Amino acid sequence: MLKPFDNPIFVTQPLIPEKKKLFKRFEEVIESNWLTNIGKQHIFFEKELANYLKIKNIHLFNNGTIALLIALKALQLPKNSEVITTPFTFAATPHSIVWNSLKPVFADIDKNTMTISVQEIERAITKKTSAVLGVHVYGFPCDVIGISHLAKKYNLKIIYDAAHAFTTQIDQKSICEWGDVSMLSFHATKLFNTIEGGALIYNDADLGKKFYELRNFGIKNIKNQEVIKEGIKTKDFIQEVGINGKMNELQSVWGIETLKIVKKEQEDRENVRKIYISELSSIDQISIPRMPKNITNSYQYFPVSIYPKKKLSRDYLYNELLKYNIYCRKYFYPLCSEFECYKNLSSAKKKNLPISYQVANNILCLPFYGALLKHGTIQKICKIIRHIIP
Ligand SMILES: *Cc1c(COP(=O)(O)O)cnc(C)c1O
Repeated sequence: MLKPFDNPIFVTQPLIPEKKKLFKRFEEVIESNWLTNIGKQHIFFEKELANYLKIKNIHLFNNGTIALLIALKALQLPKNSEVITTPFTFAATPHSIVWNSLKPVFADIDKNTMTISVQEIERAITKKTSAVLGVHVYGFPCDVIGISHLAKKYNLKIIYDAAHAFTTQIDQKSICEWGDVSMLSFHATKLFNTIEGGALIYNDADLGKKFYELRNFGIKNIKNQEVIKEGIKTKDFIQEVGINGKMNELQSVWGIETLKIVKKEQEDRENVRKIYISELSSIDQISIPRMPKNITNSYQYFPVSIYPKKKLSRDYLYNELLKYNIYCRKYFYPLCSEFECYKNLSSAKKKNLPISYQVANNILCLPFYGALLKHGTIQKICKIIRHIIP
């Protein structure tokens, strides 16, 4: 047996901005006496981010889940209507549907992209269907063209959970331009983080206004001059049941500084990816999903699929790696449709989701972050994997 790592190797390591620059910005915030409520830093970060992603409309949130809740809320879908989604995702995706008093309906995924299948969406559509919530899982884009055709044909709203797709582009355009609204997560485990945080990207200005107000308890975003000119009464300021979804000033400066180093991290991850591919491609039992040519990788995860053969399976590899102090993740096993709170839905039946089961049983996300390039860590991980699967 090869020697295990002294310290645990996790699936990711958070991106942390340069301390000196960060502390300088913290000082700026502290001295401004303005800590939250869409302050100077928030507004600046929002602009920087829009430029970086080459998109027009974006709002920031205190986390991705709240952003997703608000996205669904603002679309004003009929109560108890059905939202078709994928079971192969993080729990926050179906949870956001239920928190809006809507009904999640699971549709199976496509074998190659692991995202929700357009055919299966169409099969799941009923009179009650009001929206589709797709997930660009691992940064693999949903079939956005196929889904937008369905949206037109059946008059559905389209929401994308783009938590894994920070800079994913299709033909050099941000993936977040597709659909009515896309959610980004800036959680510490994501490629780009603000410790906790998130964003909504959208096209329609009226919808954007709704996001803005729902994020702030439903308080109308009116300027003082308008209040005086139009004689709006204070009692009219709150018309909707909003929530507190605001990103604060410290999260914002963390984001401003992290944005400066995320490109370098992606370059490092590209090198990690290349090493994995060259070291693991020759193993028959491992298959590495590839991005289509016109898609830029988001570098969020490095998933591999393990073909089970005798005792060698995904779970075997996972457990063996633990002995070497390597903690991979079985994202997304079990499927959301297997959770206690969803397993009784008729769409959650195993026979409805054969591909999802197959993918979830064989997938493993290997450690994936730039610092693996140091001290030959990535080479050692590959050597251990080749030792376990000869
Ligand atoms: C991380 C994640 C979320 C939730 O984002 P938070 O910012 O942690 O609330 C939602 N969906 C998917 C697919 C995720 O991976």
